[in-house]
Formats: sequence, C-alpha cells, structure tokens
Amino acid sequence: MDKLTDHPLAELFPLMPEQDLKDLANDIQTSGLKAPITIHEGMILDGRNRYRACAVAGVEPRTRQFPQGEDALAFVLSVNLHRRHLTESQRAMVAAKIARLPRGRTEKIKEANLPICPTIAEAAQRLAVSPRLVRQARAVLASGTETKAVEKGAKTVNAAAKEVKAAKAAKAARATKTANEVHRDATGYAIPEEILALWQRKPEVDQLLKLVSQARVAAKSAHEQDDILFAPSNLNSVIGKLNEAYSILSNSVPFAVCPTCQGYGRTQCLSCKGRGIVGKFFYDTCVPAELKAVRNSACVQ
Ligand SMILES: [Zn+2]
Repeated sequence: MDKLTDHPLAELFPLMPEQDLKDLANDIQTSGLKAPITIHEGMILDGRNRYRACAVAGVEPRTRQFPQGEDALAFVLSVNLHRRHLTESQRAMVAAKIARLPRGRTEKIKEANLPICPTIAEAAQRLAVSPRLVRQARAVLASGTETKAVEKGAKTVNAAAKEVKAAKAAKAARATKTANEVHRDATGYAIPEEILALWQRKPEVDQLLKLVSQARVAAKSAHEQDDILFAPSNLNSVIGKLNEAYSILSNSVPFAVCPTCQGYGRTQCLSCKGRGIVGKFFYDTCVPAELKAVRNSACVQ
C-alpha cells in the first residue's frame, strides 16, 4: 500500500508520545491490529497512531472507508473524545482549532476548506469547555510557543495563556523602551529634545541632494553625448555648478550637535547658524581639537 498521509481533521489531536507508540507497536505485533484505520478522501481520518505503529511492527494495516456523506468532523471528535482521556485544556485546544478563527486554523485545514464550527461558542460546546477557555487556547495557538506543552497535557491553557500574555507585555515594554531611548548624533552625543524634530528632518536634505545628483548625472550624460539640444549651454559649467551646489547642500546634513552651543543657545550661535546642529564638514574642519575632546568625554562609550 502507498504511504498514507494524515487527514487535516485527524491532526486536530496530537500524535501519541514515542514510548506509547512503541508499546502500541508491540501490542499490534502480538495481538494484531484490532480496529481498522479509517480512510477519508484518501487520507487517514482516524488511526494515525495505529498506522504508524503498524509500520513499526511490520504489520500490514487494515483500512476501512469512511462512509460518504457522513460528518467527518463529528466522527473525529466522537472517537477521540471517547478514546482519549483529554484534559479540559487539551479539549480547549481542539475547540480553538475548529472554531471559525483564521488564526486557529492550520494551513492544511484552510486549504482543505473543511466544514468547521461557526462560532467559538459552538466549538466550546462540542468539546464541553467554556468559551473563555477556547479564547485562551486561541491566544496560545496564535503564539505558537506553548501549543505543544498544552497539547501534551504538560501545561494548562490558563497557565500557557498567562505566559503568552506576559511575553507579549514584555515585548511591548521593550519596544517602548527602544522608542524612548536617547537619540545620538554621529559623534555619539545625545541630541537635545529641543532640536530632535529638526534633526529628524534629515531625509528632506537627503532628498534635495539626490535631486541635485540626478541633475548632475543627466548633465554629464548630455555633455558626453555632445547633445545638440544643449548647444547654447556650457554643460561643463553646469556640471561644475551642480558639483558646487551638492557640496554646499551637504553642509546642511545633520552630523553633530553643535559643539559651541551644545544645541541650546541656538539663536545667537554662529557655529550652527542657530540650528543647534552642524554638518560633517564643519565638524571635521572647524571644531577645535580641545572642543572635540570635551565632546568625546561627554559621550557614552
Ligand atoms: Zn550652535
């Protein structure tokens, strides 16, 4: 027989642990397969543990077809709930999977377009758990981190949901902390709150520089091609002026908090022209070494 795959509905319930599977295989080897494996739509609807145990035992599995037109979901729920001693939490996980919740559905179930319970309430009812527990199970499923522990019965849905919630809160707190972190200039100096908004307009300068650069490329290309269209213009001169424009504009790119006024005495400061910010060229060439040393000592390493 060709290797059979699991039906998405069968996957609502987890596989048994390795050791139990070995025990089952031993049992099948001694006493044979008692109940046949149920096949639906060419996949294993029920008996995927037995199917695997048969493979281990080297026993050819018997199968039976699931009757056409019957409710496959109802069947899967019925046999598994009778057979397995599932905790309330484990049942809640199943309910979360069958409820009409995009996040609760596995890819395979989505693809198979199976009939699923319309609401959390109905899913909860079918699995005999509270809707609140199903909602918690849904959060656990969405997190993807605690799912296995709950399905194995090692953890309750409630405990897992609390952990998921705490992890979410911690993540949000970390994000807020990052957002509130001090902004620093290129020298590592903290940018004063008063000039942060101006500093953050750097993309506007970048944009203007980009436009000048594009104009320069276009002028160079026209010059190289001796384009007759531009005959009346001295393109060499145009390119030179665009180079100059680029260089002058570059001075506006925020590089460092003004080392003279530290970004505070803006209106009177000649170093930064009242911006509280200086460009790289200014910082590199006009700021005395002593002032840079003072600046460096003020920066967090
Ligand atoms: Zn200044």
